[in-house]
Amino acid sequence: MSDNPSFVLLGIDNVTFEQRPIVEPAADEVLVQVKKTGICGSDVHFYVHGRIGDFIVEKPMVLGHESAGVIAKVGSGVTTLKVGDRVAIEPGATCRKCEYCKTARYQLCPDVVFAATPPNDGTLGRYYRVPADLAYPLPDHLSLEDGAMMEPLSVGIHAVAKLGEFQANQSIAVFGCGPVGILCMAVAKALGASRIIAVDIAPSRLEFAKSYAATDVFVPPAPEKDESRVAFSKRSAAAMQKALGIADRGPQAIDLVIDASGAEVSIQTGIRIAKTGGAFVQVGMGSPDVTIDMSVLITKELKMRGSFRYGPGDYKLAIALVAQGKIDLKPLVTHRFPFESALQAFKTTRQGKSDDGKGVIKAIISGPDVPLDSA
Ligand SMILES: [Zn+2]
Ligand SMILES: [Zn+2]
Repeated sequence: MSDNPSFVLLGIDNVTFEQRPIVEPAADEVLVQVKKTGICGSDVHFYVHGRIGDFIVEKPMVLGHESAGVIAKVGSGVTTLKVGDRVAIEPGATCRKCEYCKTARYQLCPDVVFAATPPNDGTLGRYYRVPADLAYPLPDHLSLEDGAMMEPLSVGIHAVAKLGEFQANQSIAVFGCGPVGILCMAVAKALGASRIIAVDIAPSRLEFAKSYAATDVFVPPAPEKDESRVAFSKRSAAAMQKALGIADRGPQAIDLVIDASGAEVSIQTGIRIAKTGGAFVQVGMGSPDVTIDMSVLITKELKMRGSFRYGPGDYKLAIALVAQGKIDLKPLVTHRFPFESALQAFKTTRQGKSDDGKGVIKAIISGPDVPLDSA
């Protein structure tokens, strides 16, 4: 255990490799040798803008939070894990004492130490330290890439299974076919969805969604000149209902709408196509201020919720569904980079495709000295 090369964000569009000290795990912690890390929209957002909302990068920060690896060291009190165990890392260590931690909503803990959210360092180094209970052992037949993908999958689990309370034989519409939208569909499929509608403006993304989990796809119409967003959304919702035979009630109605796009028009359209008495869950972070027709919300008694990261049980369910073969994460890993090419991985994710034109769903960076094809 000699060095700890790390991929560090210094400021907007400014990254470097730095040696960081190797931290000792406390009694209840483990040190994980990070083997695989997925790049997420939020990582790229910090790289491009230096901030997300109130989270501002003010000092150099190691990037990365979607990781899996192998236990390198265990704290003196850890009995559940041993050196060499393969684990997925849940990257948010919470205080365990506040109201939210004690009422099973630890994702709302005000004192969470979350990887690669300022001022906390992330996982793109050789080593990362976490509380032992946030290192989840991976079944032998799952890969370390699968392990890294448990982070975005848990976001989908939280939105669909937990907050959306999605049940077998229900229908779902998902706006936005980026990795999180796709994973929300995967969760719905695993839970026995009767119908999964994917909505996106990019036909190539819809094509993938259809091959992967969606039963139906919809491309919204083009906005007309001088058309307001509200007017466009009404028209788009009506077009969607007509094209796909969506009703407001009964078997053709949509039980759960997920917005994984963050686009105002998607949100406005989504509340209109949700069924009376249905649910709408916002998981995409985008336009902060959105105009919503409250009469739709009221008359449908729509249950509208924001979904933030993941909470108790979400990682466990994510790993279980993949282990049971109900979700296949492999088709989502489209690009792989060695540690030295971490910047290339960020640039490729930012562009949405590599120079050869191949679209990115998820780019994975291997840990330092970890071969690209290691399982
Ligand atoms: Zn992420
Ligand atoms: Zn707390």
